[in-house]
Amino acid sequence: MSQKKVRVRFAPSPTGGLHLGGVRTVLFNYLFARQHQGEFVLRIEDTDQTRFVPGAEEYIVECLRWCGLEPDESPEKGGPYAPYRQSERKPLYRQYAETLVATGHAYYAFDTPEELEAMREAEKTKGNHSPQYNQQIRTGMRNSLTLDAATVKELLDKGTPHVVRIKMPDNETVSFTDMIRGEVSFQTSTVDDKVLLKADGMPTYHLAVVVDDYLMRITHAFRGEEWLPSSPVHILLWRYLGWETEMPQWAHLPLILKPDGNGKLSKRDGDRLGFPVYAMNWTDPKTGELTKGFRENGFLPEAFVNMLAMLGWNDGSGQEIFSLPELVEKFSITRVHKGGAKFDYDKAKWFNHEYIVKTPDAELAALLEPVLAEKHVISTPEYTALVAGLVKERCHFVNEIWDHGFFFFQRPSTYDVASVKPKWTPEKQAFFEAWSVMLGSQTEFTAEALENGFKQLAADKGLKPGELQLPFRIMLCGGKFGPPVFVIAETLRQKETIERIVLGLAQINA
Ligand code: GLU
Repeated sequence: MSQKKVRVRFAPSPTGGLHLGGVRTVLFNYLFARQHQGEFVLRIEDTDQTRFVPGAEEYIVECLRWCGLEPDESPEKGGPYAPYRQSERKPLYRQYAETLVATGHAYYAFDTPEELEAMREAEKTKGNHSPQYNQQIRTGMRNSLTLDAATVKELLDKGTPHVVRIKMPDNETVSFTDMIRGEVSFQTSTVDDKVLLKADGMPTYHLAVVVDDYLMRITHAFRGEEWLPSSPVHILLWRYLGWETEMPQWAHLPLILKPDGNGKLSKRDGDRLGFPVYAMNWTDPKTGELTKGFRENGFLPEAFVNMLAMLGWNDGSGQEIFSLPELVEKFSITRVHKGGAKFDYDKAKWFNHEYIVKTPDAELAALLEPVLAEKHVISTPEYTALVAGLVKERCHFVNEIWDHGFFFFQRPSTYDVASVKPKWTPEKQAFFEAWSVMLGSQTEFTAEALENGFKQLAADKGLKPGELQLPFRIMLCGGKFGPPVFVIAETLRQKETIERIVLGLAQINA
C-alpha cells in the first residue's frame, strides 16, 4: 500500500463561493501531494442538481489558480481518470448500487415524498424530534426489505420511482485510523440508512465519493471535520464493495472557528465582523448578493496561503512565515491539531503585511496600478515603486500604499493648518521664503543634503529646526504623516517641492 503513488483530491460541490476552510483543505491536499511527488486531483461533486449554482465551478478553478495551488488533473485539464465532473459520470454509479442490493447491503425504497413526510410527522408526535430512516423505521416503510420479492419486481418493472439505501448493520462498531485524530469508532445503530442512488438515477455524495475515490485511485482523503459523521457509511461501502484494502487513509481537518472560538466561522460572521470569509468575491447569481473575498480585500495570495497553513498547523519551531516550497518541505498532516483553529483577522492582516514588506517594490507598483488608474493618477512604474518602497512598512494591504503615500502622486487637497498657525511667526514665514529660494539653486537634491541645508539656514536665522519641520511636512503632504520629511522632498524633487512650499505658505496665511 505504502508503495502506491500518492493521489489526493479536493472534491468540492459547486454550490457557491469558497470558504477559507475549503481553501485550507485544498492547501493541505496540495502540500501532501507535492511532498510525496504525488498527484492532486480536482473533482467536481455536482450530483445534487438542486444545489448546483452556475459559475461556482469556474470560481473554484480561478481560486485555485489565484492561490497557486493548481491541480494535476481536473475537469478543465483532463487526465487519465476523466471525466472529473460527477454529473458526467452518472451512468457509472448504478451498477455499484445494484451490486450492493444484490449482496444484501442495500435495498430499494419506494416511499413517496408524502409517505416519508407522514412517517416524520408520526414520529414527531411520538416524541422523536429528528426522525431518520433507520433500522427501526425501515421496517414500517415500503422497501425491498418489507415487500415480498414479487411486489418489488413488479414495482421495478413498472418503473416506479425509487431510491437505493444502504442497509446499516444492526449493532456493529466501525473503526478507522484518522491521520489527525487517531482511532475513531462509530456504532452503526446510530447511523441512518443513507440514500445512495436517487430516484433520478444520480448517486448521492456518499456513493459517488466512494466509487470515485476508488476508481480514481485516491490514496489519501483530506476533508473537513463536518464529514466525520459520514465516515462509517463510507467505510462500510468500501468494505461492501470489496475494496477495503484499497481504501484511502483519512484525515478530517479541524474546523475554522469564529474569532471567539464559539462555533464554526461562517460567511455571516464575516459580514457581521467586517472581514472576508471567502477566498475571492462571490456574487450569488440568484440574489445578486455579494460576499467579499480576501483577494479583493487586498490580500496577496502567498500571504493568504501562508495564513491558512497556520490555521491548525505549525512545525513546532515557532516559525510563522513559510513560502509555498518551504511548506511543501515542512508540512506534516500528523502535526495538524485535532481542535478547531480560531480565526483571527488581525493575524491574517499581519501575514499580509509581512508579505507586502517582502514583495519587491516593482511588483507592488504593478499591483497598485489599478488604484492609481481609479484615481486618475499618472505615474511611471519607477516612481510608483519608489513610493511603495518608502511606505510599505506601514501597510497591511497594497491599497494602503495609496493611503500612506497619496501625497507623492498629488498635491494635498486639505492642509492641517491648525497645527501650524498658533505658532506661526514672521520669522518662520521669512525662513520658508528663503528656503524655497535656496532650494531653487540646490544642486544636490538628496534627503541628506536637504536636511543639512535646512538646519544650516535655521541656525543662520536663529530658529530651531525641530519647530520648522512640522510646517514643512504640512506643506508637502497636508498633514502630520508620511516618511521622513527630507525623504519626501527628495522624492517629490526640486520643482514640486518648491511649488508645494509656495502653496503651503498661501494656505497658512489664508
Ligand atoms: N463534496 C464534498 C464537499 O462538498 C466533499 C467531501 C469530501 O472531500 O469527501 O465538501
